[in-house]
This record gives sequence, C-alpha cells and structure tokens, in this order.
Amino acid sequence: MGDPHGPSGRAIKAPRILVVGAGASGLAFALECASRGTHVRVIERRSCRSSIQKATGVAAGVWRRLSKFGVSPTSVSAAIPMRNFAFHDDGRLVANVPVPEIDGEPPAHLYPQGELERYLEEALSSRGVEVEYDTAFISYEASGTSVRVGIRDEGQEVERTEEFDWVVGADGAHSAVRQAAGMPFVGRDYPETWSVAEISTRKWPSDAQAQLFLRSDGVGLFLSQPTSGVVQGILNAPNVSKALHAHFPDAELRYERDFRVTLRRVRSPRTGRVWLIGDAAHVQSPVGGQGLNLAIWDGITLAEGLLAGDLTVERVLARRARTVLLFTDFDYRMLATKSRLVRSVRNRYWAYAAKHPALARWFFKLISGGW
Ligand SMILES: Cc1cc2nc3c(=O)[nH]c(=O)nc-3n(C[C@H](O)[C@H](O)[C@H](O)COP(=O)(O)OP(=O)(O)OC[C@H]3O[C@@H](n4cnc5c(N)ncnc54)[C@H](O)[C@@H]3O)c2cc1C
Repeated sequence: MGDPHGPSGRAIKAPRILVVGAGASGLAFALECASRGTHVRVIERRSCRSSIQKATGVAAGVWRRLSKFGVSPTSVSAAIPMRNFAFHDDGRLVANVPVPEIDGEPPAHLYPQGELERYLEEALSSRGVEVEYDTAFISYEASGTSVRVGIRDEGQEVERTEEFDWVVGADGAHSAVRQAAGMPFVGRDYPETWSVAEISTRKWPSDAQAQLFLRSDGVGLFLSQPTSGVVQGILNAPNVSKALHAHFPDAELRYERDFRVTLRRVRSPRTGRVWLIGDAAHVQSPVGGQGLNLAIWDGITLAEGLLAGDLTVERVLARRARTVLLFTDFDYRMLATKSRLVRSVRNRYWAYAAKHPALARWFFKLISGGW
C-alpha cells in the first residue's frame, strides 16, 4: 500500500480507513496516515475535545516520533523536562533522585495530555483531515474485502451505513469496536478505587517535577506539575483532594474524580479488517505513566505498518503491549506493597540510586520509551 502504483503501473486505489475515536491513539494514527498522503476519516462521539488532562508525562521516545509532525517539547508551549524525582515513605524522604538523561535528553517531559492532543488535532487539520464530532460508531459487519460500519450522528435515531477497507478502533477502554468484534479483554481488575484531581497552587517546589508519597498501608500519592501553577494528584484510594489540600494549603480544586483501574489487553489487536489501538487494546494502572505513550506509539506504528502493507505489525503491537503491561504492573506492586521486606529493599535501592543515578538508568530508559 506504500507504493501508489501496482506492478502494472496503474494507480492503486487508496484504502478507505475509518478511525473511531479522536483521543491520542486515533489522532496519532490519522496524523501518520495524512502525512503519507492517505486520507482517513476520524469520528468522535463527543461534541468537543475533553478538558480533562489525564496523563502528564510524555516520553522522549514519543516526542521523537511526533517531531516529524512539528510537535516537540520545544515547539509546544512550556513542556517541563523531568530532572528530579523525590520519593517519600511514611512521611520520610527516602530518595531525591536526579533523573539521568537518556541519549542526551530527559526521559520525559511533563505536559498535559489535553494540550498535546490539541496540537495533534491542529497538525491533522493542517493536513486536511478534520475530526467529525458528534458521530458515534455503533456496529459493523465484515466481509472478506470490506467492513460496513453503522454510524450514528448525535441527535439522530437512525444509523447510516458506510463502507471501509479498514476500521481502527481507537475508542478507549470501553471500546464499542472491541465489543462489536467480540474480542476478549483478558486480565484482571485492581482492587482499589483510585482518585485523580487537579489543583491550582503557588506552593509547588521549584526544583521538583514529580513527587511520590508512599505509605506502609499500601496507599500511594503521586504528584506532578504538568503546567506551571497546576498540580495533578493521583491516589490509589478515594479523596485525593484531601491529600492535596494537606500538601498545598493554598490549593484551589479544579476537578476531582474517582476511577477504577484494570490490567487487561486483547491477545492480538486485529480481527480481519478491524484493528484496536491505545486503551481499546490494553489498559493498565497509571503508575509508570505509559498509557498515553503507548497509545501514541500504537497509532504511529500501526499506520506505518498498514500503509506499507506489512501485517506483521500485528505481532509488534501485541508484543509491546505485553511488555509495557508487565512493567506497569511491576511498578504498581512496588508502589502498593504492604510487605515490610519488599518496602525495605525498594527504599534502600532508591536511596542508593539517588547517590548513584547510573543505577536507575534502566528504569528511566523504560520511562523514556526505550523498550
Ligand atoms: C487519571 C489518569 C492519569 C493518567 N496518567 C497517565 C500518565 O501520566 N502517562 C500516560 O502515558 N498515561 C496516563 N494515563 C492513561 C492515558 O490517559 C490513556 O492511556 C490514553 O488517554 C489512551 O488514549 P486513547 O486514545 O487510546 O483513548 P482515549 O483517550 O480514551 O480516547 C478514546 C476516544 O474515543 C471516543 N469514543 C469512545 N467511544 C466512541 C464511539 N462509539 N464512537 C466514536 N468515538 C468514541 C472517546 O470519546 C474518546 O475521545 C492516565 C489515565 C488516567 C485516567
């Protein structure tokens, strides 16, 4: 599909591709296609972009892949390089880790997901593809050569049907495409209810980018500053705003919500002419900050493979998801452990790594997307 001409020299028809969902994975897929001159349709059931920021860490490997679209830490406004990571246990500072550079760059920049998606959508629009809002995927029927998709416009009772060569489900953790395809989502649910909140504050320490406050009862609070003056807190328990107010007396709550966390994935991201990427294909805990990064990586990697006619990309996507989920589950277990022995080994390791940052290189290499 990369060569626009067949062996006979005649032009090959461009594939008709439908992307369901205009989150990070769908936008990244569409952007790679549009940059290669392949037009795609992107439908999004919301009426406008969500204002909730979700992820705050964007890995160096992802910035590198986005730079060809003109999206990089220097082109977007005010991405904050991650240079320091402070970690406390039961109120005691365990380690203040200087984050080592990986291949001459910080492994990640703090940046709000919503802002990054806005840049991706602008880059897509400048390549002639507009997101079709208020438009939801409902169902599909596949034949060997095409997929007939049922689509409903907001406010309309009746579905219309359109035909595509490929459908890419980038429609998040509760994917309607995955359900319509009947693809099992294997894994398990973490037991706790989590909460996330954002506050405005002027009290964030100027020399920190990320702070972790763990406790012997397995509750961990992760704080980051995605934008100057705004702090996000994630807690593996309800009521994170209370913890934020305890840390920042001047806190003004911007939003708060509870959520459940699961560790699940499809065994393979393709069935016939239907693909799944991003959270539609795999979900995990926010510990380790990989969901957004994997979503963007999935989108670009699938587009490269599909447009080159290389369907082995299916295995590449499945392998990467498996590895990343193992890593985030390991991180979650380390954060939420109640075992005195494991806590003691973990804390000693990080205290030592704070003095000898090269020891923590493997960890930050993974954070940077260097799988
Ligand atoms: C609190 C929190 C903190 C996080 N922190 C981090 C972090 O620090 N680092 C990190 O890498 N990741 C983080 N993540 C994970 C990250 O936010 C997700 O992995 C990422 O948003 C996945 O992107 P996506 O495009 O696959 O899915 P989504 O962002 O969920 O986008 C899916 C889109 O599809 C649309 N849609 C759904 N159904 C339909 C339909 N039927 N028809 C049309 N459109 C539809 C939705 O409206 C949505 O816009 C965090 C997540 C949470 C909840």
